[in-house]
Amino acid sequence: MKKLIYCHECEEEKSFRIQEELIETTIKGETFSYNANIAYCQDCNEEVYIKELSDRNIEVANREYRKVRGILQVEEIEEILNKYNIGKKTLAKLLGWGETTVIRYLDGMPPTKEYNEKLKQLQNPLNMLEVFEQNGTVLSETSRKKLSESLNDLVRLNENKEEMSSFTIARYFLSKVDFESGLTISPLKLQKLMYYAQSWALAIIERPLFSDDFQAWQHGPVIDTLYYMFKSYIYNNIPKVSDFDEKILKHEELEVLEIVWKAYGKYDAKYLEALTHSEDPWRLARCGYKKTDKCNEIITQNSIREFYSNIKKTYNIKNSFGLDNYINDIEVLWD
Ligand SMILES: [Zn+2]
Repeated sequence: MKKLIYCHECEEEKSFRIQEELIETTIKGETFSYNANIAYCQDCNEEVYIKELSDRNIEVANREYRKVRGILQVEEIEEILNKYNIGKKTLAKLLGWGETTVIRYLDGMPPTKEYNEKLKQLQNPLNMLEVFEQNGTVLSETSRKKLSESLNDLVRLNENKEEMSSFTIARYFLSKVDFESGLTISPLKLQKLMYYAQSWALAIIERPLFSDDFQAWQHGPVIDTLYYMFKSYIYNNIPKVSDFDEKILKHEELEVLEIVWKAYGKYDAKYLEALTHSEDPWRLARCGYKKTDKCNEIITQNSIREFYSNIKKTYNIKNSFGLDNYINDIEVLWD
């Protein structure tokens, strides 16, 4: 933002201060308050107009409007696509809506009341399963397969089966995203968090969280199915998951995940990548491969268990502080 702004009262460029204020506004007959950032001239104290601030205030007001009216936010709609691994057009088709309907919603247009209710229902996998069983045949074979696979995972998890799917653990981490404090998750970072969740579960509660194996890819350990699921985000952040129910996790699982999130969640993807490159399991699995070689070698659960169990003993790791001590001691190898 510029340092000076034109003040119409003083009729010249002036410095300004920004103040947060609770503003009351009315959109489509609904009156509500939201936190706006307002700029004032430092000399005459009159309000001055700054485009960036004004744009941001409008955005905040629109989000708040959606909140009070119970209208899904854009990222919550995105999340539905994400959760079921389907595209915008596929979702529209499944619901018998116009082909561009969902696309328009993702562009920011609020859904009608009826369509909003429908979308909210679909946040629950059991409702999606019902729609899928009724209308699934209208979809292409590929879309049908993808949706049916993710429903299998999600509905199975609702039945409280013994083992979590890796997708459930991924959703745990995505529920921790906090855009305001800068704690975000890209696909690369997600894979690293998944790797450390599994590693520390093997060391601390002495069993895996999920059955998927990690492969020793160039940029660190990767679960390939998750890679394909979130690939479209490339280096961008994956939207927050807002309907994750921690009750589906056992107490000991949640404890491990919390330790991992506290210790690793604050780092960015590249730093976490460097950490995995500095530890034995990934390095050993890539033995014989050059730095840039494509490699699908599995990092075995045994090698992970052995490595992190030893560290757990050495550092007496019981909580995220113990883990912080270890992480700070790692001699990070950048390549
Ligand atoms: Zn002024």
